[in-house]
Amino acid sequence: FEDRKNSYGPNIEIESEWGPFKAEIDAFMEQSTQWRAFPIVGGVNVETNDTHAIDSPYDHNQNTGRMDWANKDVVTSAIDKAEAAFPEWNAKPASERAICLDKMADLMEENYPELMAICHREAGKTIQDSIDEVREAVDFCRYYAQEARNHFENPTTFKNYLGESKEAQLKGRGVFACISPWNFPLAIFTGQVVAALVSGNTVICKPAEQTSLIAYRAVQMLHKAGVPGDVLHLVPGDGMTVGAPLTCDKRIAGVAFTGSTGTAQMINRTLAARGVAPVPVIAETGGQNAMLIDSTSLPEQVVRDAVRSAFASAGQRCSALRVMFVQADIADRVIPMIKGAMKEQSVGLPYLHSTDVGPVIDKKAQNMLLEHIEHMKSAGKLIAQSDLPDFADKGTFVAPTAFEIKSIDQLTDEKFGPILHVVRYKAKDLDSIIDTINNSGFGLTMGVHSRNETTCARIAQRARVGNLYINRDQVGAVVGVQPFGGQGLSGTGPKAGGPHYLQRFAIEQYV
Ligand code: NAP
Repeated sequence: FEDRKNSYGPNIEIESEWGPFKAEIDAFMEQSTQWRAFPIVGGVNVETNDTHAIDSPYDHNQNTGRMDWANKDVVTSAIDKAEAAFPEWNAKPASERAICLDKMADLMEENYPELMAICHREAGKTIQDSIDEVREAVDFCRYYAQEARNHFENPTTFKNYLGESKEAQLKGRGVFACISPWNFPLAIFTGQVVAALVSGNTVICKPAEQTSLIAYRAVQMLHKAGVPGDVLHLVPGDGMTVGAPLTCDKRIAGVAFTGSTGTAQMINRTLAARGVAPVPVIAETGGQNAMLIDSTSLPEQVVRDAVRSAFASAGQRCSALRVMFVQADIADRVIPMIKGAMKEQSVGLPYLHSTDVGPVIDKKAQNMLLEHIEHMKSAGKLIAQSDLPDFADKGTFVAPTAFEIKSIDQLTDEKFGPILHVVRYKAKDLDSIIDTINNSGFGLTMGVHSRNETTCARIAQRARVGNLYINRDQVGAVVGVQPFGGQGLSGTGPKAGGPHYLQRFAIEQYV
């Protein structure tokens, strides 16, 4: 119990990182009514007068500023400029481009309080999640800057068997479209954009409509960090108005996309229908992530890791645990402990220290999750539901909920929120359970809890997932330490924050 409590109560890391900034964060949040953002083309704000209020997920009465959306003309003008700027940007030494990434990392660290305030207001992120968000964005910048220096700066040379001199150089492809989701509105957005830039591409970025404000600030900072206005353009707006015309354009030379599997498939079809040369699509998509727990595992550790994996960030992580398989022999011990831990979780306002779980992103997500909870009340057996605060109806809160179900086959698609499903299994069925998980077609994360090394090795060998975590939680991959990404319906690879990522943004020229 003490162990679990520590993972949710105040801890030294939060106190030391957040404490000194609190007053500044509060001051930024006070100003949120005046927040204003625009498309940025050629380094200049574009007023389109298609102005949308920014909604705060935890309080719909809270004015969180306004945002102008781009349109097809703005997208075309951005691509015109990006195409013209490409040769000069691509010709620069990679080390020069990398300097901009290092400066961007510095700027984000200097502006921690403002970025955290936007994370709270616009995305409903908790304190810990907001700290992690900024940290990850900083890590992407520093890591890709170093990768570019290592692999893009100097040509690779080859053995001179034929009396020729030979070398290979990695170069940018052209104008890259970077399309990102709302759940890591700074980290994923920045990661995609800086990877494309440092590899020599010019970039048009389209953030998720729900979180355009933080993207606007990130692009302003990238320009301040030295990325020329014509090299990087921001086109906020929704998928159909802005994303579709962007990916339809024949000049787009590659797409970095993170979001749902369905949208990735749609983008693939749009790109193919252009009738020009095929271009790379780096797609990082959804998951139906499982955790396998055998009878040798340590229940206290299982509960801590399962609860964090399922409910941290209100379950709005692609890596989050959706289906926990517990060996029947220990299920009656583990399930009541999960129930106890869920009762201890505090759902509340994201900027308060006492909050473990904040709101979900918007009404559409909330309705989808509440519908699933209603459906599961008859299709499964309710294990537990955390309490909601009195003010929950002011925002889009969903109580963390766990159900016991018979099989993963009862779940047809990803439910992106704080809902955990628990399945009991018999030891003899382990292989067939892994096959059933594989057959879902998704392959993002899997957790394993076991003290039997042979079992761990057997699961790792059989499971078709991008990231497998043993005896720990399965969320929060660290850049350069746990390169992240799935397979099958969960993504194309290469792994974000890994050593092969930048190469996919580049072409290799052999001279
Ligand atoms: P989404 O609905 O697929 O949207 C992702 C992005 O695509 C948004 O910017 C969206 O714009 C845009 N979009 C929508 N339709 C488009 C079109 N026709 N053409 C071009 N762009 C279009 O996903 P989401 O709800 O934002 O994010 C949650 C999903 O992301 C979950 O499935 C989660 O698992 C996945 N995810 C995966 C990873 C990973 O690393 N594997 C990481 C994070 C999230 P608008 O929303 O503005 O319309």
